Order: sequence, then structure tokens, then C-alpha cells
Amino acid sequence: MADCLFCAIVAGDIPAQRVAETARALAFRDINPQAPTHVLVIPKDHHPGLAALAAAADGLLDEVAALAHQVAEDEGVSETGYRVVFNTGPEAGQTVFHAHAHLLGGRPLTWPPG
Ligand code: AMP
Ligand code: ZN
Repeated sequence: MADCLFCAIVAGDIPAQRVAETARALAFRDINPQAPTHVLVIPKDHHPGLAALAAAADGLLDEVAALAHQVAEDEGVSETGYRVVFNTGPEAGQTVFHAHAHLLGGRPLTWPPG
């Protein structure tokens, strides 16, 4: 989709530190990390948010979730624990309207979140 930051990253038009990918999902480091491991996992196709991603049928949301877990394993945080977050809508602080999971780990994470 035109004028979408994460579509531009998928296309390679904007650089990103890619850490893993599948046929339909891409994982890259967040530019403003909030934890030692902070990776964004996105569908390569444009879906504006979690609802659209969940409605995309054919297991795409599963693929994004499975890739998040795979990256957690690769980063060595799957045993210590990690968090996967979809900020959805204004009160949750969603700023990029291409669905993305934040994978956070590598330090104790407080609950409830801020
Ligand atoms: P959200 O606020 O949940 O929509 O998350 C958007 C995330 O994208 C933020 O954590 C940003 O730091 C991150 N971000 C913005 N631009 C880039 C970029 N060019 N490369 C990697 N991450 C980015
Ligand atoms: Zn997009």
C-alpha cells in the first residue's frame, strides 16, 4: 500500500534490521527499542490492524504469532519469558496502521503495562 512505512520496509525501500522471515511474515528490530529484545513481526501484505489480520483467514495471524515465538527462541528469551503485544487503536498507542506484533523480552516486564 502506498504511503505505508511497513509496506516500504517489506519492499526494501526503507532499510530495517531484518531478523527472520517466512513466506508471508517479516520480523525486524524496532527502531526505538523498549527492551533488549524488541522486534516487530508483521504480515508482508498490508492489513491495517489486528481485526483485519485476524479476518485474513488462511492462518496468517498464526504465522505472525509463530514467527514471534521463533524469534523469541532465536534471541534466547523464550525460557526467561517474553511479551507479544498488538497495540490497537488510539488509546493503546497504535501509530503505524500496518498490523504488527511487538515482541519484547530480555528484561523483567512489569504488569500492568503503562
Ligand atoms: P505502534 O506504536 O504499536 O504502532 O508501534 C510502531 C512501532 O514502530 C514503534 O515502536 C516504533 O518505534 C516503530 N518504528 C517506527 N518506524 C520504524 C522503522 N523505520 N523501523 C523500525 N521500527 C520503526
Ligand atoms: Zn502496509
